Amino acid sequence: MQNISVIGAGTMGNGIAHVFAQKGFTVSLIDTSSHQLEKALKTIALNLDRQIAKGALTEDDKKSTLHAITTYTEIPAGVSKADLIVEAATENTELKLSIFRQLDEHAPMGCILASNTSSISITKIASVTRRPAAVIGLHFMNPVPVMKLVEVINGYATDASVTRQVVTLAEKLGKTPCVVNDYPGFIANRILMPMINEAIYSLYEGVAGVNEIDTIMKLGMAHPMGPLQLADFIGLDVCLSILHVLHDGFGNPKYAPCPLLTNMVTAGYLGIKSGEGFYKYTHGSKDLVVSARFTESAAL
Ligand code: NAD
Repeated sequence: MQNISVIGAGTMGNGIAHVFAQKGFTVSLIDTSSHQLEKALKTIALNLDRQIAKGALTEDDKKSTLHAITTYTEIPAGVSKADLIVEAATENTELKLSIFRQLDEHAPMGCILASNTSSISITKIASVTRRPAAVIGLHFMNPVPVMKLVEVINGYATDASVTRQVVTLAEKLGKTPCVVNDYPGFIANRILMPMINEAIYSLYEGVAGVNEIDTIMKLGMAHPMGPLQLADFIGLDVCLSILHVLHDGFGNPKYAPCPLLTNMVTAGYLGIKSGEGFYKYTHGSKDLVVSARFTESAAL
């Protein structure tokens, strides 16, 4: 397996292209937006510079990594030689189904079709192709060059040999793959999102303030980020949409999104990407200042 195509050059797509190119694979990076492609190449160069500054890479490694990536704005040209395609386009079911129909039409026979979706059913995505046995979930974590985990999701029809190939590949990237079955939220988000939702409920019900909730989980459970900070980092719109997937998929009220989360997303308070969520990000994402909407300590 040598030729990897990555669909979508956003937050995840640029990271996925980066790690494959850095490990010597030939990468085709495809996005409908040429602006996103340019931005992705700049981000990859910046992240490689960071690795050089830490002594983890050389200037030559940077050159060969960037040289391994070719960009495309059309799917057919970008996937014609692919051994593996990793789709990391916007999290929207109809969009992904339409992309997989095109991949099925244009990708070579024998090519593995993977999706980086956070929550959309792999079985459903596979069902629109003529090769459901070759479709699998490959869920990288953000930021891809840093995070070790890759959740590998077997769709109902995924062939065991496809899973084995993908596991070997993830290991070649220096990642730790964990194989799970295709049910709503898989494992990572099925466990993470109810925790985040419970943290938001605790704030909504006035049990404690933003600082207290996050500090308790950081210091008490050794989490590197509190759940409210993590929700801001992931994007509150993304959290809400995954909770909807869990709620609809299991039909269990325990997954119902907190009304405060729904209100914040409706009002455009999406976390880091919009500048404000539970925290306000005036000077970047490292500076943690609780949003003025939540500064009154709830328990006092
Ligand atoms: P993003 O919005 O940063 O990037 C999505 C990219 O897809 C954009 O550049 C957009 O132009 C492109 N795109 C849209 N339609 C396209 C098409 N038809 N063909 C090619 N490109 C197209 O999104 P993201 O955060 O990188 O998320 C991508 C995927 O990864 C989603 O499925 C998401 O659920 C998943 N994911 C995200 C995270 C995260 O923390 N952001 C973590 C794990 C998984």
